[in-house]
Amino acid sequence: MHTKTVSALSNALRAKTVSATELSQLFLARIRASTHNAFLHVDEALTLAQAKEADKRIAKGNAHRLTGIPVAHKDIFVTRHWRTTAASNMLANYTSPFDATVVEKLSAAGMVTLGKLNCDEFAMGSSNENSFFGPVKNPWDTAAVTGGSSGGSAAAVAARLTPASTATDTGGSIRQPAALCGATGIKPTYGRVSRYGMIAYASSLDQAGPIAKTAEDCALLLTDMSGFDTRDATSIDRPAEDFTRQLDAPLTGLRIGVPREYFGEGLADEVAVSVQQALAEYEKRGAKLVDISLANTAFCIPAYYVIAPAEASSNLSRFDGVRYGHRAENYTDLQDMYRKTRTEGFGEEVKRRILIGTYVLSHGYYDAYYVQAQKIRRRIARDFMAAFSQCDVVMGPVSPTVAWNIGDKTDDPVANYLGDIYTLSANLAGLPAMSVPCGWGRAENHARRPVGLQIIGNYFEESRILNVAHQYQNVTDWHLQAPEQDAP
Ligand code: GLN
Repeated sequence: MHTKTVSALSNALRAKTVSATELSQLFLARIRASTHNAFLHVDEALTLAQAKEADKRIAKGNAHRLTGIPVAHKDIFVTRHWRTTAASNMLANYTSPFDATVVEKLSAAGMVTLGKLNCDEFAMGSSNENSFFGPVKNPWDTAAVTGGSSGGSAAAVAARLTPASTATDTGGSIRQPAALCGATGIKPTYGRVSRYGMIAYASSLDQAGPIAKTAEDCALLLTDMSGFDTRDATSIDRPAEDFTRQLDAPLTGLRIGVPREYFGEGLADEVAVSVQQALAEYEKRGAKLVDISLANTAFCIPAYYVIAPAEASSNLSRFDGVRYGHRAENYTDLQDMYRKTRTEGFGEEVKRRILIGTYVLSHGYYDAYYVQAQKIRRRIARDFMAAFSQCDVVMGPVSPTVAWNIGDKTDDPVANYLGDIYTLSANLAGLPAMSVPCGWGRAENHARRPVGLQIIGNYFEESRILNVAHQYQNVTDWHLQAPEQDAP
């Protein structure tokens, strides 16, 4: 049962071959036994109470297709009953008085919450090593990082601790950990999913999305996660969409843009080979490859690492020890209380971002850095618009390498930033993008490690990229393989 997809579980629940209570008991037991550090907070009684409600709803015959399916939430979404920490000491004992819209919507559909998932502190990172609660271990090789920042969300799916999870993506945090853990994830168009109750990192880039085993499961979850929300000023007012409706459309005639800039220096051979093989598979299925250029790709790193910290420095100013979260115990006056609280509450990477952000926004540097970065952001979006006049989707790698070893890059923040090269652009442009398992690589003397294929679509074309991913998953089985100890 634990290896089944959301869609298979949905059928099983409706056919009454399993109950919601049995399912949550099964996954809770797996979570209890797991050593990946994927979960930060579990409350079995709460979960079982939700499962019981779901069973009642199923028995009454008014179940939604997701009713009774377990889900776990990245600890960036606030939850009324489970602690919400953003993986920070600043919020280590925080419980929110309300649920994030995403949580509220999935609960309304009857999904059963298993708990809260580990991540990089305030979603800042690419390896999940920046969590106050320690790194998450990659289920394929526990010596390896999971990627970040949604490492817990990806690892929990890969280790079959939950059939699906929620995550957020500011610069790749859904796609990159999904790729490094062999899961499937989608970051929708900016504005598609409400950010209400999602602890803000960089508000103009943050988007929530699901991670699951298949594109079909992602489509099922995204359908219920998305929609206009008056409580989020950046939420887009568009009619609700069922993202599963286009899954079965044929690929014939699909034009796949292959950006030259995504296959150059820095891309590991094993990743390049797997991605090329995936492209060849698409060609075999009737798609056409189109050579395109995203000329400003190299500038996405400097632009992002100015804009994201700038927004973060402003967003994180609310953690001052006065309103909520950690407060230093001994201080002499208000200034001293702020200083000690923030010194103790924030980790090193978060402090680094606040410093950079404050610097680039300061008088005298604002024009040189922040305004400049915004101009590059515009150019990056324009490159994509030009590309989409020649192709329907863009494909390339998600990460330049497979998962590296825990500890390998911890002293080198820039090395981590460079690994975001293929994912940042979709956030800067606000485009939907996903990650789909497409092969294997390995670090020296280590077990095999997953490779992800990235599929980027035009604005609001989530249905299209999900369809393109689903068709690939119909003829491949990378996405169904489970780490040995978690296989059936
Ligand atoms: N790795 C990027 C960063 O550290 C992206 C993180 C994210 O998408 N939340 O900012």
